Amino acid sequence: MKLFYHNMTLATSVAIVVDKLLSASRQMYLEGFVGGSSGNISGRINKDHILIKRSGRRLGFLKPRDLILVPLSAENPEGASSDYWIHREIYRLYGWCNYVIHAHPKQLVRLTLDTCLEEIPIETYEGRVYIGDYVKIFRGRRTDIPKNLNIVRDGEWGYIVEAGHGAYLFGRDLEWLLNMLHELEYIASTHYSHIRL
Ligand SMILES: [Zn+2]
Repeated sequence: MKLFYHNMTLATSVAIVVDKLLSASRQMYLEGFVGGSSGNISGRINKDHILIKRSGRRLGFLKPRDLILVPLSAENPEGASSDYWIHREIYRLYGWCNYVIHAHPKQLVRLTLDTCLEEIPIETYEGRVYIGDYVKIFRGRRTDIPKNLNIVRDGEWGYIVEAGHGAYLFGRDLEWLLNMLHELEYIASTHYSHIRL
């Protein structure tokens, strides 16, 4: 990042986003949404650049050096998370998107594996208020993920739940994405209890 120290505006933006990404990563780990080196996170620095987690680093223990600055023009930047291509497509599609997080919430993943649901009916009060009647489950090819993103509130946030894998959430505000990640897991656990009665 020394390369950019001559540009204090950019350096300040990087420092702010680094702090937010490290804090959010730790929260995702502490809440059990990721383990080992699974999951990833990124944040927009400006129109053409993002910070993204290095491949293989553990979200719960990230240091500033575990985030790398990448131009969105890069096809396959060395060292970046293997999901970089998904993050890049989301930032390119939605100029309002400032953050992308990816995690493996256990109940949500189990529900997608134990059932053939294409949609999880939302039975929680807050889930209905903030997401709607259903959480959609994507069961197609990974390469089609960018074409199947769900926009919940245009200009605010969206998600995709990939069956047997986890969830990607993206949007303007990082705290909101963490709240919605928690809500998705709560929706899944509530529905899980319901169908097992
Ligand atoms: Zn994953």
